Amino acid sequence: MRSPTEKDRELISRALEFARKAHGDNKRMSGEPCLAHLIETAKNLANLKADKETISAGILHDILEDTDIKREELEKEFGGTIVFLVDGVTKLGKIKYRGLERHAESLRKLFVATAKDVRVLLIKLADRLHNIKTLQYINPEKRRRIALETLEIYAPIANRLGMGHMKGTLEDEAFPYLKPKEYAETLELRQKKTHELAKTLEKVNRIICKKLAKEGFTKFWTDFRVKHLYSLHKKLERYEKDIGKIFDISALRIITLNNKDECYRILGIIHNMFKPLPERLKDYIAVPKPNGYQSIHTVVFSGDGEIIEIQIRTEEMHWEAEFGIASHLVYDEANKPKSGGSLDKKIKWIKQLFNWQKNIEGSEDFLENLKTDFFNDRIFVFTPKGDVIELPIDSSPIDFAFQIHSEVGNHAFGAKVNGKMVSFDTKLKNNDIVEIIVKEKSEPSQKWLEFAKTTDAVKHIKIALEEKSKCRNL
Ligand code: MN
Repeated sequence: MRSPTEKDRELISRALEFARKAHGDNKRMSGEPCLAHLIETAKNLANLKADKETISAGILHDILEDTDIKREELEKEFGGTIVFLVDGVTKLGKIKYRGLERHAESLRKLFVATAKDVRVLLIKLADRLHNIKTLQYINPEKRRRIALETLEIYAPIANRLGMGHMKGTLEDEAFPYLKPKEYAETLELRQKKTHELAKTLEKVNRIICKKLAKEGFTKFWTDFRVKHLYSLHKKLERYEKDIGKIFDISALRIITLNNKDECYRILGIIHNMFKPLPERLKDYIAVPKPNGYQSIHTVVFSGDGEIIEIQIRTEEMHWEAEFGIASHLVYDEANKPKSGGSLDKKIKWIKQLFNWQKNIEGSEDFLENLKTDFFNDRIFVFTPKGDVIELPIDSSPIDFAFQIHSEVGNHAFGAKVNGKMVSFDTKLKNNDIVEIIVKEKSEPSQKWLEFAKTTDAVKHIKIALEEKSKCRNL
């Protein structure tokens, strides 16, 4: 992370001047000048530590849609990269497309552009973040649509790219518009619980800091984190509203400036002082979440009748968890992101999204399948080697097989879950270890279509069945 240079400022002020002239006195629904929205979008991008091209494109992002400026003019003034970024977030024309269709196709266009340059998506998220914060000025019907879309599409994208802060904020801003009653309840509950636990957390924090200092730890800091509202609401639903089972409404965080070994040493020290609830220990350092999230979570008895969660991570893991893909987007001279382990994984997911959309015809299918395949509730299962495979909820071993490779799916003969043979229509659960037995002669059957969940599996099964019937007709 670096501070902006003179040259960065020059480009950004030029973009601002250009936008000021083009948008003139145009106002938004809120009565605010359009320019205010553009500046807020740019600020959001700056908070994500975006580079000068991205920030400038953020300032210019509505220019093709809302003013008379043409692509060519913009290109002459700012060059190909910035035009590409702006065009990527520009919706398709109203004339050719209508309503839902325009909406789905614009989203598809966004994914295509994002596959080429992920900064397009950052601009879209920064734009949406300001829009959702100013939703009260929009008419109720549009308001609901934007809130729903934020919750169902943009927040899950941010989550998948490891942008924890963005995901949490988008959800919490959309939440009151979709479920006002639940929003108010959750807010009240959180305030009450945070207040109740504050003293205990502070006390435990003091004890731990003192002990760590005594043991020679110098490079660490701690803070308290409060759970985002929407994620608390979802967790409450999962636990049938039993607040007694949720221990992470507010939690103590310990962040070390050293490496992960130190996280385990700190964990040892904590468990030595406070008795843990063993089944609540989660080691996301050894087994990161599929979006790259790393941390150790442990739940302990505080000693004065409370139960609290403590999270331990390195500083690097911390920034990664807050900003995700944005924390990696350092571009080299050729405008290519510098690669690295967890960034490559996230980019791979974007490529999957890109390849997936190519195979979906029609706008309505597009939105529906997008939700089941990528954004609805997911489960995580393991291969026998310990690789994590992510699937939609209620997936079958057949979905798993096709997720591994189309050839594994096409020749699946049997399946084992946690070491036991199961039928193909078994519903997989979180943390299952799944193994597919493959036989050369085995092929997909019509019956599989009754329980296959993923678009990818359904597609491959249909192709295989068609091939088979062709052969029979020859
Ligand atoms: Mn905008």
